[in-house]
Order: sequence, then structure tokens, then C-alpha cells
Amino acid sequence: MSYNKNVKYFQVAQGVWGMKIYFVNVYMIANRRGFPKGWVLVDAGVQGSADKVIAMAESIFGAGTKPTAIVLTHAHSDHTGALEDLLKRWDVPVYAHAFELPYLNGKSSYPPADFTVGGGIMSLMSVFFRKTPLKLGNKVKAIDLEQGIPELPEWKIIHTPGHTPGHVSLFLPLNTTLIAGDAFVTTKPESAVYVLNGIKHISGPPMYLTPDWAAAKASVQKLSDLQPRIAATGHGPVMRGRELQEELKKLADNFDKLAVPTGGRYVGHSAEADETGTYYVPAFRSTTKFKVAIGLAGALAGFAVTRALTK
Ligand SMILES: [Zn+2]
Ligand SMILES: [Zn+2]
Repeated sequence: MSYNKNVKYFQVAQGVWGMKIYFVNVYMIANRRGFPKGWVLVDAGVQGSADKVIAMAESIFGAGTKPTAIVLTHAHSDHTGALEDLLKRWDVPVYAHAFELPYLNGKSSYPPADFTVGGGIMSLMSVFFRKTPLKLGNKVKAIDLEQGIPELPEWKIIHTPGHTPGHVSLFLPLNTTLIAGDAFVTTKPESAVYVLNGIKHISGPPMYLTPDWAAAKASVQKLSDLQPRIAATGHGPVMRGRELQEELKKLADNFDKLAVPTGGRYVGHSAEADETGTYYVPAFRSTTKFKVAIGLAGALAGFAVTRALTK
């Protein structure tokens, strides 16, 4: 099989690479102790992008390479879209937090997205997100937070819930590199212009898909306290150094103002979940109906822009 040699990826840190697939990033981490033998894929892009991920892997690690494991920051379909296709080619273990497993083995669904917040391209994208859960069965293993991931011995796995109940971030203390998934992001995920052009802007987790803002706030505080010098997130470009630390601290200190939407289904009313899946979803309040219309109009405008830009 031949792949596009012009695959475009970027270096995050020594032994860490990323690639933007339309609007979401995937990352590859070389196991420093085992390189070039071992590397791990973090997140699995959107549906239909398996060839892109494989092309990236082969251009970094050589033809016929496969990872030793796949780690999921969370199970949203823009981070797991190519997972089933990749597993057909790579028979490797997949790791996710225990609270994320119900969305990977068909036992539960995430609470519905809140289209009344955010608007723009990403809200619309969420309309196309997979509605039915993945059914990966026992291919997925629960991450032991104490032990970490055996294939990534130098990295710490940090539980950063809020955006999803079992969201995790990956942290390498050696050089304070952080892979934060969607715990916070480095673009404005509600803006088509920001997302598609890779404009840097530190933001909280994507608004329309975050059902627990109190947990999301605590998670950003936890990550800011690590004082990472490099941060690679699910959406947006890599951020580094003082700019990153100052912006992240500002986000943590002013989370309610900067990250939490002013209204919406989950503001002040969190959905609740555990290792069995989602067990409480707050009722949809009728006062938000008007905003739904606005949100959908924004989403459609975003879609038009996307189509125009990706032609
Ligand atoms: Zn997400
Ligand atoms: Zn995402």
C-alpha cells in the first residue's frame, strides 16, 4: 500500500509529534527507553483519517511500523473516529480511563451536546459526531492512574474530568511536556476561523460538549499547577514557555469568566457519570429555546465557511 509522502506533521518536543486532521490533533510519542522500538498513539482523529495517521507514523518510524499502544484522552468521536480502522491494521491495546470505558464498549452514551452555547463550526461538527457508542469490547483497558501506562513509563497520566468524566491528560515531568486533550485547548473551538487557520488562543474545553463545569475548572487548575513548558491540545497549535504558563494561569484564575458559557443546559447543572456511564442528565430548560435557534444559525454559517475553506 502506498501513502501520501507529503503528510504534514509537526514536532511538539523531543520524541513527540502531532498532526492536525481538519480540526483535531493526534499525537505520537516515542518511548524514550525503547525508541526506535516503541511508540504510542494518543487519540485517533476523525472518521476516515486512518490512512493519514498511518502515513504520519510511517514517515516518522518507518514503513510497516505499528504503535505499542493507543491512549485515548477521551472517547469523543473526533478523537476516536479512525480507531476501528486503525485497530484492523494494528492489533494493539487501547487505554482509557475507567469512566470512559462505557462510551467505548457500547454501554453508555455521552450526555447530549448543548448547541445553545458556542455556535460556529464546532457545534455543527458535533451534529456529525457519532451518535451510537463504539463497541470495542475488551480491546480497551482501564488506565491504572498509579502505575501509568506500561508502554509509556516516563509519562504520568492525570485524570482531568469535566469535558468528559474519564478525560485524561499526559504529562512528562522530565521536560514538563503536557498533552492536554480537550481539558483546555489552544484555539477558540467555537470559531471556524480560529480552528481552521490554527489561530492560537488558550480556551477552556469546547463549550457545547462539556457537561460538568465545576470538574472542568478543577482540571484546568490541576494542569496549570504543573507549570508545563510545552502544551499540545486536542484543538489548536502547540503553546510553549512563558506565554503558555501565563495564559494557562489566567484561564485557571478566571475560569468562570473565560471558559464557562453564560448560560446553557449544563451551567450550574452538571451531568453525572461513573464507571457505569452517564446516570444523570439535567433537563433541557425551555428558556434556552431561543438560543438554540441562534446557535443553529451560527452553526450553519460555520458550516458554509468550512466548506468554502476545505474545498
Ligand atoms: Zn472532546
Ligand atoms: Zn475534541
